[in-house]
Amino acid sequence: MKLKQNTHYLGNKSIEEIRNTFGTPLYLYDTEKIVAQIKQFKNAFNWPGLKIKFAMKSLSNINILKLMQQNGVDLDAVSLYEAETGLLAGHEAKNIMYTPSGVKFNEIEEGVKKGFQINIDNLPSLKKFGETYGNKVPCCIRINPHIKAGGNHKIQTGHKDSKFGISLLQIDEIKAVVEHYQIRINGLHMHTGSEITEVDTYMQGAKILFDLAKNFKELDFIDFGGGFKVAYKAEDKTTDLDALGAALVPAFEQFCKEYGKELEMWFEPGKFLVSEAGMLLLEASIVKQTPYSTFVGVDSGLNHLIRPMMYDAYHEIVNLSNPGGLVKNYNVVGYICETDTFAWDRPLNEVRPGDILAIKNAGAYGFSMSSNYNSRPRPAEALLIDGEVKLIRQRENMQDIMKNQIEVL
Ligand code: PLP
Repeated sequence: MKLKQNTHYLGNKSIEEIRNTFGTPLYLYDTEKIVAQIKQFKNAFNWPGLKIKFAMKSLSNINILKLMQQNGVDLDAVSLYEAETGLLAGHEAKNIMYTPSGVKFNEIEEGVKKGFQINIDNLPSLKKFGETYGNKVPCCIRINPHIKAGGNHKIQTGHKDSKFGISLLQIDEIKAVVEHYQIRINGLHMHTGSEITEVDTYMQGAKILFDLAKNFKELDFIDFGGGFKVAYKAEDKTTDLDALGAALVPAFEQFCKEYGKELEMWFEPGKFLVSEAGMLLLEASIVKQTPYSTFVGVDSGLNHLIRPMMYDAYHEIVNLSNPGGLVKNYNVVGYICETDTFAWDRPLNEVRPGDILAIKNAGAYGFSMSSNYNSRPRPAEALLIDGEVKLIRQRENMQDIMKNQIEVL
């Protein structure tokens, strides 16, 4: 975004023109930023068999999935419909990692039929997989390495009480099932959480996987998951990808030598690739003064961006309409009948009804976690590409709210 003569521009359009064309609330994604993040990721890991599997749960618009494919990035999916959206976007089934969590076995069978790379996260499913396919279909195993990784407890997925993966302490049981059914284990996987800042945390997990890998003779890849931290505040510590690459690549090389085969190195970044590329544009509906605080009510709420309420996530907010305005403190709140506060006591350039606010760093887990709570429509999505802003999803309307309801009375 550029500021020229007190007006914000995105590509060749002023923010006012964007509002007039597309309305608010609007998710807006910058393709250039996504491509830059992909490049930075590739540069950090100098390994010939590097494969990036974009965690599409973070942002699953088909145009984003196409952009990934055009830039040599595959997909990580957690449901059949996600994985099938990947096919619609032109990804090959074999390049889609399918990691469902604790699902009925028919969802895994369906994934096998479609040709996705299956990732199994529990022992009963591994056993069923063996009974059903023997050595005919390969699968990957999601290991829970029992690591407390980054972020707050709601986004940690690799500790000993987490529902995800098969405990590393159950390796003997895994081996017994694999040997009994002759299952071809072609990959080992971990994803220990989001917002991991410490290189050591990844290395700890990597060492556990290298150690366990010796139990499986037919591996093609090791998948180190996602969880790379981006900055939500200027002073936030982020994952130093170059430092991680400098530590992980030689360790991986050494492991491959000992293993006797050059394996592929997989990652599943979500946030890192798309978070900073996205913002949510809103309009200030009211400004309400109480004896205690000043509220800005916006045309959005937790139904559009739930991260601040669900994870206590901080998102920077900018008043794009009044860049020179006097700075005052506001509580920025949504229109949902819940306490859906985007920001408490936040300094903003003076907000007037009708001003356009941008919630930044909203590309990941924004639209994809949106809902119709309070019978509110989901927002529109747009893409900034080659200086042009293009609509990539229509705003929902009353018909969408009623779409699947069946009147029986
Ligand atoms: N891989 C798996 C299995 C996940 O569950 C997630 C996020 O929940 C990711 C990758 C992506 O995480 P992040 O967006 O923090 O990189």
